[in-house]
Order: sequence, then C-alpha cells, then structure tokens
Amino acid sequence: MGIISTKYLLQDAQLNEYAVPAFNIHNAETIQAILEVCKEMHSPVILAGTPGTYKHIAFEEIYALCEAYSERYQMPLALHLDHHESLDDIRNKTNAGVRSAMIDGSHLPFEENVQLVRSVVDFCHRHDCSVEAELGRLGGVEDDINVDAESTFMTDPLEARRFVQLTGIDSLAVAIGTAHGLYTHRPNIDFERLAEIRKVVDIPLVLHGASDVPDEYIQRAIKSGICKVNVATELKIAFSGALKKWFNDNPDGNDPRNYMRIGMDAMKDVVRKKIYVCGSSGKITI
Ligand SMILES: [Zn+2]
Repeated sequence: MGIISTKYLLQDAQLNEYAVPAFNIHNAETIQAILEVCKEMHSPVILAGTPGTYKHIAFEEIYALCEAYSERYQMPLALHLDHHESLDDIRNKTNAGVRSAMIDGSHLPFEENVQLVRSVVDFCHRHDCSVEAELGRLGGVEDDINVDAESTFMTDPLEARRFVQLTGIDSLAVAIGTAHGLYTHRPNIDFERLAEIRKVVDIPLVLHGASDVPDEYIQRAIKSGICKVNVATELKIAFSGALKKWFNDNPDGNDPRNYMRIGMDAMKDVVRKKIYVCGSSGKITI
C-alpha cells in the first residue's frame, strides 16, 4: 500500500471505460469520509488538494495522513496536486513523495503553457509522478481561481493533439462546457467536441467542474473518453449543509465528535453517488 501515481489508475479506467473519481479533501474528516466509502465499494480514488488546501493543512501533514490511511484501509491512494501553477511548488511536493500533479497553465498563451508543462513533465517523469495539464479554460470559481465567462474558451481538438505531443503529459483536462462551482443554469456540454478530441488524443481525458452536472451527462462523457471526474463543491455543500441543520436542531451542541460525523455522513452519500456514476465500484486492481 502507499501513495501511487494516478497514471496506473487512469490506464485501467481508459481500458475498461469507467472513470476514477477525484475528490477534493481539506482535513482528516474529509479524507476519512471518502475512504470509508471507497473501501466499502472497492473503488479506486484520487484525493485532490489545491494549493489552498495545502496552506490550510501543511502538505507534510496531509501526506502523512494519507500514508497512514492507505495502511489502515489497505488501499493504494493517489494524492493529487490540483490546479498547481508553479514548477517549484510541484518539485518540492514531488520530492516529499507525491506522485500525481496538475500543472495549470491554462491562463497562458499556448506556447507558454507548453513550455511550463514540458518543464514539469521533464521533472515529474523522473520521479514516476504523472502530470495532468489543461488546454482551454473553464469558467467559475475554485479557491483562488476565478474565471469570468468572457475569459473561458473550449478546447480545440487539433490544438489538443499538438499540446499532448509537445508536452508528453499523462492526462489532459478538457474544457467542453463544464465550470467550477455551482451552475446557474443546466450546463451545456459539447459532446461532439469531446468526441473530436478523443479521436486525435489517446491519453486519458479529465473532466473538471463535475459538481452539479446531471448524472447522465457525466456517464455520456465517460463513454466518450473521460477517465477522471473531479468533484469538489458538491462535497462541501453536503458537509456544511448537514452541519447547519444539526446546529439548528441542536443549538447547545458543541462536541466535534458528534457534529463532524454528521457532516461526514452527508458527504459520504455524495461520494457513493459519484462512484456509482463513474462506474468505478469494484475496480480496485492494484
Ligand atoms: Zn478544476
């Protein structure tokens, strides 16, 4: 058991047409809630933390927790660096043991994005650390990233092929109509674009912004080549919503051992649902 590279999980997902869910974590309770369900459903999992997460709880602490939980639950875990923007940051965390990174240069012009990603790939591949990068730009809000509608653009299939060839990445995050955070209207997913990308790009594709997207859309996207589905906001809403209700019903309550479990149970329901939608139940192979 231990911390493994995401690429081994995604290779099996691509081969067998399911997706590995990537859930964003923030503390011990969120990790436990996710792993309790993954263990019960025998689902592979990616635990993702943004730079903001690794400020909230130091990287070394979260890494130590993940190593301990990998032993306790007897499951290999992929601890992922979500939306990291600097080679130095990724280098430090890879040296400390992480084996899965996203370098997000999607805000940069194409050539600069290629250059940044290439430098990360050159380093990470020497350490068996898989690299995800994004081409196109998703809208919405995630931690410090806030992209307004005018700044978003979809992934161009031919540019995607060139991007993958030039960078040597292991997986590609595509912009096909999803957004980070919650939707103000039903998302308009461009499945034709996804199919075009799949035709010319043979590495696993990643769907960001999958909170609040109808299940049938996610399942259709998986059939069209998505191998990793990122979920963050829906977990936060479930956890905090359950706590708000509990405190409303128990205004004198003050024991974290009681109320954290309420939040975890609500989060577990979402994790269970997403594993079902991803088709990853029973797919642990390593
Ligand atoms: Zn994202």
